[in-house]
Amino acid sequence: MVYEDTISAVATALGEGGIGIIRMSGNQAIQVADQIFIGVNGKKASEIKSFQAAYGNIVDEGVIIDEVLILVMRAPRSYTREDVVEIHCHGGVTPLRKILDLTLKQGARLAEPGEFTKRAFLNGRLDLTQAEAVIDIIRSKTDSSLKMAVGQLSGVLSEKIRELRYEILQMIAHLEASIDFPEDDIEEMTIEEVTQGVRETMAKVEQLLATTQTGKVLRDGMATVIIGKPNVGKSSLLNALLNEKRAIVTDIPGTTRDIIEEYVNIQGIPLKIVDTAGIRETADIVERIGVERAREFVDKADLILVLLDSSNHLSTEDHQVLALLEGRQAIVLINKSDLPQVLEMDKVAELVPGKKVIRLSIADEIGLDQLEQSIVDMVYGGHIKQGESAIVNNVRQAHLIEQAGKHLEDVLITAEAGMPPDCLVIDLRAAWEKLGEVTGDTVGEDIISQIFTQFCIGK
Ligand code: GDP
Repeated sequence: MVYEDTISAVATALGEGGIGIIRMSGNQAIQVADQIFIGVNGKKASEIKSFQAAYGNIVDEGVIIDEVLILVMRAPRSYTREDVVEIHCHGGVTPLRKILDLTLKQGARLAEPGEFTKRAFLNGRLDLTQAEAVIDIIRSKTDSSLKMAVGQLSGVLSEKIRELRYEILQMIAHLEASIDFPEDDIEEMTIEEVTQGVRETMAKVEQLLATTQTGKVLRDGMATVIIGKPNVGKSSLLNALLNEKRAIVTDIPGTTRDIIEEYVNIQGIPLKIVDTAGIRETADIVERIGVERAREFVDKADLILVLLDSSNHLSTEDHQVLALLEGRQAIVLINKSDLPQVLEMDKVAELVPGKKVIRLSIADEIGLDQLEQSIVDMVYGGHIKQGESAIVNNVRQAHLIEQAGKHLEDVLITAEAGMPPDCLVIDLRAAWEKLGEVTGDTVGEDIISQIFTQFCIGK
């Protein structure tokens, strides 16, 4: 065990609920519970078998604080691999706070954010990608997001990373063996074999990196803006999406006004519609606040849905909006296609080369399926089957894997320059270490702290 002290925190969300849970972990956890819990039949926490619950009261100086169930999980078969006690009390702020205070009075210390999971990591129960998966499960927005995070918790990505590291280690061993026989032509052969191996490993690294966008989108949602001139159907599109596909609405109280983030679930892909309040109330970002502001929106977005009006000529504003799309992920929607067509379609195609253009009639519910499919194709990009493979799902992981790829590239450059095997070993080792940081096998304390502070207290 890494830690001496016992930590305690409220593990459930604060507010009123049927039950609330206080969780303790550490070698004093059971002892602390013994000081404050009295079972109905006189049973103490230390007499409860692992994974069994007991019913009783939390008592402070003879006064009953609340009626509870307590659950004891003894080391090493627990979330943290330490002794863990959960006290299930009534889910109100006051009982939770009082019981938490009692545990602290009896010698536990308040847990830091993510400290339970950090202990699980430091005690070897989870690796770093699995620990990150825990946050992702808590924050998942759609079934696909959840599935990805659960896959990660079971170690799908870690396994892939370990395979790559093993391959690299084999190459290092191979090269080091050849260093012992410098006169033979073994060396030359070895270098050839190793560079071939490096190319294969690099291809796998590339494949893994190709999943990054999908991972990021499933995890954080795809920031989406709907733009177009007034009356083109932005609110209608938003409402059509929300009515059918609404996933989660989160309110983030801001200083000037509340920002509303609404998530739309497109076959498991969470689209985070940016500034829905703005679309609803003002509708007309282009006209009201100008193209400059529209550009700001576009710059923040992962996906831009541009609406044009099929029943009108292409306007100057339309031109300006379409010009913003260069180099961006965007879909052009020609709305009101139920009305006689006036819009210069060939001109549109000319202005947005390579972009998907879809005819839509929100009024007649035409084209929405096609829009949905285009989004799915964009996110999965043809390289990944939904919910199956290992997915790189955060910037930290992607950055490290990318760096590992660069070190592998260096191996090839070094070999090309005719350098001796020990120089290749240096680059290979660097790649091996970078990959190790993904799973946390080779990682510094500062990085670990930084990751776990993203958690909430009690997790
Ligand atoms: P916004 O200003 O861009 O948000 O546009 P709205 O969504 O408020 O729509 C403007 C008007 O166009 C409303 O009267 C809608 O009913 C109408 N509208 C929206 N979509 C269609 C469509 O596909 N066909 C037709 N004919 N009218 C539509």
